[in-house]
Amino acid sequence: MKPLNADLHCHSTVSDGLLTPAEVVRRAHGNGVELLALTDHDELGGLTEARAAADEVGLRFLDGVEVSISWGDDQTVHIVALGVDPTNPALVAGLQQVRSGRDSRAGRMAAELDKVGIHGAYEGALRHAGNPALISRAHFARYIVEQGRAKDTKSVFDYWLAKGKPGYVQHAWASLEDAVSWIVGAGGTAVVAHPGRYRMSKAERHTLFAAFKDMGGRGVEVLSGSHNAEEVAEFSRVCREFGFLASRASDFHGPGESWIDLGKMPDLPEGLTPVWSQFI
Ligand code: AMP
Ligand code: MN
Ligand code: MN
Ligand code: MN
Repeated sequence: MKPLNADLHCHSTVSDGLLTPAEVVRRAHGNGVELLALTDHDELGGLTEARAAADEVGLRFLDGVEVSISWGDDQTVHIVALGVDPTNPALVAGLQQVRSGRDSRAGRMAAELDKVGIHGAYEGALRHAGNPALISRAHFARYIVEQGRAKDTKSVFDYWLAKGKPGYVQHAWASLEDAVSWIVGAGGTAVVAHPGRYRMSKAERHTLFAAFKDMGGRGVEVLSGSHNAEEVAEFSRVCREFGFLASRASDFHGPGESWIDLGKMPDLPEGLTPVWSQFI
């Protein structure tokens, strides 16, 4: 049987994506996606529009969100929630609290960037974000490219925004335990997003996966736009070892700004249980 073209991680203008929720849905449908989850950062505000657009084109749709977590010694980890009830009070309140830190963090980032000669970054990033509670490093990256200080957003991260670079500041996001409990409490499935992107040793990642499983986490993104073949093999092994469900995710943010387009990932490796088996 032909595997389902599921894409369970992407962004819209409601966080740091470039397309509106409805545009994301229509592009996914046009690309042959058969099951889509919109997973804006810490924000559920695009789901109603996305679901309406999905109903219109006849695309199966899951309510999702990508929650920002602080883990260990100043590591940021992302947990994707799939199939949550977007009206669940604890989830709504928890995400509101996570978002409330973004504006002050952006102010601190702008102050650091100012010291290295990038001026006006708060206002510039806010212009791209449209809302202080949604300002992300991606919006700073767009401003810095616009200023001619880097050729593309990826190089902005390499020079200015990644951990250890001048514009990076420490920030306390949600705890893993809180995030998983909000997701599970809202009837959703918690999935570790793009594990290959975390600068951790295999042993540190093992500790993260074990804690995540203990707290009620169920899935891992095996296929992510940012994973290479070696990482796909490693996280396939992790799924087998821990009994995790496997996810398939573009992490699409917009044309020209993403590793891969909606739904264009390869099929999941054989023998893994797809996380969407519980939704279809
Ligand atoms: P924040 O949640 O504000 O820390 O911003 C993180 C966002 O920045 C991610 O969701 C990506 O959209 C973007 N990002 C992080 N690292 C990179 C990178 N190396 N290249 C391009 N975009 C990145
Ligand atoms: Mn993003
Ligand atoms: Mn992420
Ligand atoms: Mn993402």
